Amino acid sequence: MNWFGRRSSRGEEKFEAWIKRLHEQHVASGLAEPVGPHPSEDFLRDLAKRSPAISLSDARIDHAATCPNCMSRIMALRSETRERKRKLGYALVAITCVVLAAALFGWFHFRQNRQQTMALVNSVSRTVDLWNAGTNRGGQPRQLKSVELPAAVVRLTVILPRFSPSGQYLIAVTRKEDGTGVVAEGLAPTVAAGRQEKVSVALDLRNATAGAYFLSTTHEQDQAAYYYPLQIR
Ligand SMILES: [Zn+2]
Repeated sequence: MNWFGRRSSRGEEKFEAWIKRLHEQHVASGLAEPVGPHPSEDFLRDLAKRSPAISLSDARIDHAATCPNCMSRIMALRSETRERKRKLGYALVAITCVVLAAALFGWFHFRQNRQQTMALVNSVSRTVDLWNAGTNRGGQPRQLKSVELPAAVVRLTVILPRFSPSGQYLIAVTRKEDGTGVVAEGLAPTVAAGRQEKVSVALDLRNATAGAYFLSTTHEQDQAAYYYPLQIR
């Protein structure tokens, strides 16, 4: 029988039953008094832990099983050990959770980075020239010939209409002319090129189905959005 086996509630019960049996045998043999001196605290600790270092035939076990002082000390040490193991168990679970979370985060981050890198590698550059488009606030959008983008990651450069102020612009592709149904958007400052102001953003249009959309430009201070018809192929 493996009294010093792995910790289990069955093992605990067996250990207690075994100590009790030893005690009963001792009482039955007529020797009510414990034999020999009290073993050392270290020995009692080992016994409480059911250390494999202790031989079952050790005479000190007989003493401990019949000595109320040693028995109560063993029981106290055993509950201490159990408590420590319980705390250690919680700590291990907590550490495992943290490590798992970190690994997941790392993996996710790596995957996302890779996806972004791949997306940029596979991106296409397009320029939309709105220089002569004028601005159209509400009303019928003016037909533009060349505003057509592929369903891909597009590095889009917009040449803003004549007289457009410089500053930060939000460039968006939307389903509706009222600005709802945003498919992709990007924020960037203008870059002056001669008399023209240009804004460059990356737009992920990979999930856009082919059809009619709107390209909008919104100046950060003005807040008025200008919409231009757009086709995604
Ligand atoms: Zn004792």
